[in-house]
Amino acid sequence: MKKWKVKIFQNPLATLLLDILSIGKKIKIDGFTFLNYVLIRKGKLTEELLAHELVHVDQWRRFGFFKFSYKYIKYLFQFGYWLNPLEIEAYKYQNNKAYLNWALTIMGTK
Ligand SMILES: [Zn+2]
Repeated sequence: MKKWKVKIFQNPLATLLLDILSIGKKIKIDGFTFLNYVLIRKGKLTEELLAHELVHVDQWRRFGFFKFSYKYIKYLFQFGYWLNPLEIEAYKYQNNKAYLNWALTIMGTK
């Protein structure tokens, strides 16, 4: 299956949206993915973070808009953030060579 073309946003608006998404959480989140759109907090872009978000891009593609949204929110209530199976998968594959290479390609360093 062909990879989705990913668009990264690292501007002040992306950072503001990440601040809003971080409300009520213990940590400030540095990345958020909606379909093939990835928000990264300004100055926080690393290959691991981007690889993590790219796993989410693949999850959005795999499940589609409605199924992914439903699953993610359901798991979040059921298991919390760290034990959310979609996050477990993203943390597992953020160090995977294929995702790291994809991240490096997007970052223009490969
Ligand atoms: Zn994640």
